[in-house]
Amino acid sequence: MILTYKIGHEKDFSRELSLAKKVAEYGVQHKSVSSADVKHFGLKSAISNQILRKYSRSKTAKSVKSVKLTIPSQSIRVVEDKIFIPCLKLSLPIYFPRDFVKINQVEIGEDFAYISVSYTDAPKIPELRTVGVDRNTTHHTIVASCLETGKVLKLGKSLNHIHHKYKNMRRHLQKMGKLRKIKEIRDRESRIVRDINHKTTTALMQFARENDACVVMEDLKDIRKTAKSRRKQRYSLHSWNFYQQQMMIEYKSKKFGVSVHYVAPQYTSQRCSRCGNIEQANRNGNLFQCKKCGIVEDSGANAGFNIAYLYRQGISQFSTDRDMLKGNTDTPKEALL
Ligand SMILES: [Zn+2]
Repeated sequence: MILTYKIGHEKDFSRELSLAKKVAEYGVQHKSVSSADVKHFGLKSAISNQILRKYSRSKTAKSVKSVKLTIPSQSIRVVEDKIFIPCLKLSLPIYFPRDFVKINQVEIGEDFAYISVSYTDAPKIPELRTVGVDRNTTHHTIVASCLETGKVLKLGKSLNHIHHKYKNMRRHLQKMGKLRKIKEIRDRESRIVRDINHKTTTALMQFARENDACVVMEDLKDIRKTAKSRRKQRYSLHSWNFYQQQMMIEYKSKKFGVSVHYVAPQYTSQRCSRCGNIEQANRNGNLFQCKKCGIVEDSGANAGFNIAYLYRQGISQFSTDRDMLKGNTDTPKEALL
């Protein structure tokens, strides 16, 4: 698995960056891949090489906008807890897990360095059980429900209150004209949210591993489309929060050896996960109450069970279809639970 980490470098590389742009323009025009051709520009050849390789081969790049300084693996040293790039006299702290295989490359922009790191994927755990995940519910950022064991894990208090708190603070500062403070507050909010997302997604992976389970979530695209009508509280959150959470789940799943699957949402919050009834359910705050079978349950957990069930149902549907294609005349069986 390859991950890219972004970190502020706090150095002025405007000279190198403008040289890099010239090299890229040269590459686009002359289709050259030899750094000897652009030596006269004065950019380090290790960097020129990378830029030429990228831009001279690109069929789509007609004009060059902003070019990053690309430093290849062989021009990067790892010394204790730092990454050192001799040709730019730049050192960056390693703030990410140290168990990487290698650093593939570092890209340097005006303010940030983008560090591409390879990690080994963990061997996949068996998918004996199914954990359905309901995200950003009224009270928690993640509610994970294991379909086969009935275990429910509620993680991270809702981000709504954090979001509202900081929104109000920003509005207040806006009125007072304290613009710098607003940025500070915004950064603080995203650090807090990021931290919560890190903790909750790691705990989710541990839960899945403990239960020998795969993780099933609703498809993000669909969630965003239906968010407004389905769940107002979801809509009030930034979509980047969903995105960040999903990215973390995706990459941690590789690290933990957990499989992640997606299902299209289908009445996941309205349906009773015990009896399947849709019509007669009551949502009372955080509780889901089914008038038909009488179940009272955390609404996030109910949605999670439905999500897990949708996935398992889809699999069994698929295998009966396949058997029928093979000429198997057995009566299709109900979804196994
Ligand atoms: Zn019911």
